[in-house]
Amino acid sequence: MSIEIKNINKTFNKFDALKNVSLTVPDGQLVALLGPSGCGKTTLLRIVAGLEVADSGSILFHGEDATSQHVRDRRVGFVFQHYALFRHLTVFENVAFGLRVRPRKQRPSPTEIKKRVDDLLKLIQLQDLADRYPRQLSGGQRQRVALARALAVEPKVLLLDEPFGALDTKVRKELRRWLRRLHETMHITSVFVTHDQEEAMEVADLVVVMNEGRIEQVGTPDEIYENPVNPFVYQFIGHVNLFHGRLNTGQVRIGELDITLDPHTEVQMAPVVAYVRPHELEISRTSEDVAIAVTVSSIHLLGPMVHLELLPKDSSEVLEAELTKEHYRQLNLQKGDKVFVKPRKMRLFMGGK
Ligand code: ATP
Repeated sequence: MSIEIKNINKTFNKFDALKNVSLTVPDGQLVALLGPSGCGKTTLLRIVAGLEVADSGSILFHGEDATSQHVRDRRVGFVFQHYALFRHLTVFENVAFGLRVRPRKQRPSPTEIKKRVDDLLKLIQLQDLADRYPRQLSGGQRQRVALARALAVEPKVLLLDEPFGALDTKVRKELRRWLRRLHETMHITSVFVTHDQEEAMEVADLVVVMNEGRIEQVGTPDEIYENPVNPFVYQFIGHVNLFHGRLNTGQVRIGELDITLDPHTEVQMAPVVAYVRPHELEISRTSEDVAIAVTVSSIHLLGPMVHLELLPKDSSEVLEAELTKEHYRQLNLQKGDKVFVKPRKMRLFMGGK
């Protein structure tokens, strides 16, 4: 079931929460709405669900206009940040709930309900806890039950709003891998909201980066990371170093450093900002080519990678670099060492000083 979001606008008391948002969620994909707090992710999800009404625009499910359809008729499954399980019902009954409350004619028989719930409990690997009450579960287990409950009614689309937001980092990581695997088995078109870029990049087929009520970019995690379309996306998706410079006939000048540009780069005299990811900074002990002189101001060893903070000679803006532990050992780096860096890869955006 594909979802088409067309020119959606939504205003709350004169505040434009969504500004002409259009997006296609392809059938069977897991799509992340990613963006800073207040950018409109939840509002968009609620409009897709039918819990909120847009001021203008339309929502199509599988090509059919669902804009004025009631939430109950859209057949969407929800999972929210705070596991809204029924406290007085067991795990089994929580999952069975949506089926038991169906009108008599559409209600499956008790045997069918038992089979469907047992299958779902197996899927979320909680079949042994069917008789427990929510208070006897961990946070991660409760979120799995919430997901099974959403899936029990065989939704056409699954909507998740910060589903792992209230959990600690370790459980969060486990659950997102688990959600990915679950999605690979079920293939239900799913949209989930998160402000955590790592979560979006790890779990989603497609990432939708939002900012101030608009969509900035839609792409696979790799596209978004490697080719951010603008400075906002660049800075939102991971760490980045900024170098202010000037573009001048085929070269960009950053401080003392002249970098020859790809001949296809459109050339014009202009101030530019070069965006360089920490792993794209090359570090060397000598300045064979012209490079930027820096002092190593801090070293953090994190698993197989090493993060460095580097202070340029004539600037107070700290640079971040990332290298493998092996390379770090070869360079034999110590805090206070004077070394040289130059960008191995960068992306230029107009503007700046
Ligand atoms: P978060 O990650 O913090 O949940 P979000 O991206 O999901 O943020 P929304 O909840 O969609 O953001 O809110 C978008 C904007 O609309 C915010 O500025 C919010 O204050 C405003 N807003 C949302 N719902 C309402 C409402 N019912 N009445 C008034 N303003 C609202």
